[in-house]
Amino acid sequence: MSNWRSCIVLTLCYLTTICYAQRECGYIPYLKLLSKDNPQVYEEIRDTETKLKKYVFKRQENAIPRKVRVIPVVVHIIWKDKRDNISDRQVHSQIQVLNEDYRKKRGTKGYTRHPLATDTMIEFRLAKVDAHWRKTTGITRTRTKVSVFQLEQMKFSELGGKDAWDTTRFLNIWVCRVRGGLLGYAQFPNGSRSLGQEKTNTTDGVVIGTRFFGRGGSAKKPFDLGRTATHEVGHWLGLRHIWGDGGCDKDDGVSDTPLAGRPNRGHPRQRPHSCGSEDMFENYMDYCDDNVQNVFTYEQAQRMNATLTLYRLGLCEWDAFGSGVDNGEVSGDDFFSDDANKNKDDDGGDFFDDH
Ligand SMILES: [Zn+2]
Repeated sequence: MSNWRSCIVLTLCYLTTICYAQRECGYIPYLKLLSKDNPQVYEEIRDTETKLKKYVFKRQENAIPRKVRVIPVVVHIIWKDKRDNISDRQVHSQIQVLNEDYRKKRGTKGYTRHPLATDTMIEFRLAKVDAHWRKTTGITRTRTKVSVFQLEQMKFSELGGKDAWDTTRFLNIWVCRVRGGLLGYAQFPNGSRSLGQEKTNTTDGVVIGTRFFGRGGSAKKPFDLGRTATHEVGHWLGLRHIWGDGGCDKDDGVSDTPLAGRPNRGHPRQRPHSCGSEDMFENYMDYCDDNVQNVFTYEQAQRMNATLTLYRLGLCEWDAFGSGVDNGEVSGDDFFSDDANKNKDDDGGDFFDDH
């Protein structure tokens, strides 16, 4: 094992105590652990925040493209207990949920009449060819001796997991048992640059616990409707928790989600209030149960599309489906050339300054 791999795995092993019965994603613990050896991680995230805001500010309504963009997905099933070797059907159900939620599809649980709910114009499809143009189902299966994985361990074959497929071409989703009771976690856009290009390219993607993946099958209530992946892919596309991971003085960088002082959990019977306003507890980036969540706002959709364009361009630029048809219009732009510094006042906020 190379030094940086042993380093990251050992470092991440410190994460051990997170409550299990309620939704808890690894976004913040993951950042904190990365920052132990790489304090500049927070600086990079602030930089990313600034770039995303500038992009959306410049593009406004054009930040969401009119043409749907399709992200090629590979799902890595890693199992020791054969009950964790989940069916293709369950994998397909998860892809279906992602598309229902990200497209706000009528007639599905992803549809809502909430006035701010928005179709993101982003879709997901299992890859039909791999990076070497070989036919694939978009699903890999790995039998392991590891009962429960430490963070990041599942992303390496030599540690009992499964190496990523080219992360510049596929959204890699690892499905396995994860230590610490986390439902899942995601690598944020550009956030691991300080760990080196090799690190970024081998770990980028989303991890989901086997019992929280897809609809039905091994998924257990109240997290059995596939919304953990909807939430984690939201992080992967640049979204933050709706309460800004702090009190009322922290924001999520999105102005059409009201400030919230804390996460909401379970199934609130009345609309919670904090920070002088109603919380948008049904937002996918809050912590409520799967059957409560159904909103991405317009500005969240803008931000995810900005992330896709600025940081994950390659995913939509090649044909992972063997169809000979491109899978989405991605307009590379020169925004960060001459006019990159015109909006100096938009400074990206004070995110993560409380660590
Ligand atoms: Zn989260």
